Amino acid sequence: MIDLSSDTVTKPSAPMLAAMMKASVGDDQRQEDPSVNTLQEKAANLLGKQEAIFLPSATMANEIALKVHTQPGDEAIVERSSHFVTSEAGGPAFLSGVMLHMVTGTRGIFVPQQVEAGIRRDDPHCPRSRVVCVEQTSNRGGGSVWPLEALRGVVEVAHKHKLGTHMDGSRLMNAVVASGTTAREQAEGYDSVTFCLTKGLGCPIGALLAGDREFIRQARRYKHLFGGAMRQAGIVAAAGTYALDYNVERLHEDHENAKILAKLIAGLPNIEINAKDVETNLIYFDVAQTGLSGSDFVARLLAKNVRVTSSAGPTLIRAVTHLDVSRADVEEAARIIAEVAQTASSCGPSALSSPAARATARSASF
Ligand SMILES: *Cc1c(COP(=O)(O)O)cnc(C)c1O
Repeated sequence: MIDLSSDTVTKPSAPMLAAMMKASVGDDQRQEDPSVNTLQEKAANLLGKQEAIFLPSATMANEIALKVHTQPGDEAIVERSSHFVTSEAGGPAFLSGVMLHMVTGTRGIFVPQQVEAGIRRDDPHCPRSRVVCVEQTSNRGGGSVWPLEALRGVVEVAHKHKLGTHMDGSRLMNAVVASGTTAREQAEGYDSVTFCLTKGLGCPIGALLAGDREFIRQARRYKHLFGGAMRQAGIVAAAGTYALDYNVERLHEDHENAKILAKLIAGLPNIEINAKDVETNLIYFDVAQTGLSGSDFVARLLAKNVRVTSSAGPTLIRAVTHLDVSRADVEEAARIIAEVAQTASSCGPSALSSPAARATARSASF
């Protein structure tokens, strides 16, 4: 199976497991786990923040950050396709009681004017605008990288209006490697930064939330409240430290593989993709012209041992490169995608427009 369904499917490598096995551990609820403390310091340093806190997931990191930034009834400014909106189970409403003001970015990236236009006036009728969140890289934006100037622009407008700033940097290291800038430069001016260890970095569990001392002090309380306070968590934190040492620079390989895959399928007549949009490890392409739905396309690929997903739109496919797929794997995946796309459209998109015709086509090619 060539699994391009997510960069979360990676399994810990032998040297990562070895690092976990030798980790010295303690009770992290008392902040006595040396491996957790090491990882937290390393992450804080990397991001240029006073402190960082180790958490079970980036979802929890985001939700805790939002909780610290807001009071119920406040409003957070986020991009329409952001993880907060699409993938946190309504957490902003459930856990923080906040409203979301959604702006529509270009490939997930929005501009300071949109933030400014979204800020409520100081009036008892209005929710209070409290925080603005950016997602680096933007997942549903196509793994797009916010340029430094764009990140700074948001910080400037936020400061001008006394809004907090949060960066969901779940794939921040992909942005770092793709742009050649540092994590510290990217995080500059953001009060809180989430980053995830279980995406491209290849860890089995964990994420970090970084900020100043007071922010992390409050975050620690919510970590407990949300049930995320662990005990001998060093056993997994050690994987994080290993990943920061060994799995960051190699992300460029994932980006190269993603670009290769994009270029190979960009030549297919019935696949729509702009290969130039692939900046990191996420590849989105549209299969509408094959006459198949996204889920049919996914099923046909799966039958040929290539796994992708189609949750972002009816005919939109997402493929993700990561450290457990090689260049040969992506070349093979491209060949199989071509095969599936070709078989589908040899029936012609119009012939597949009726459900009956589609069912026939489906059984014919399986
Ligand atoms: C995956 C992801 C998260 C959540 O990460 P988990 O560790 O799986 O909870 C948050 N934000 C973005 C942009 C993501 O891609």
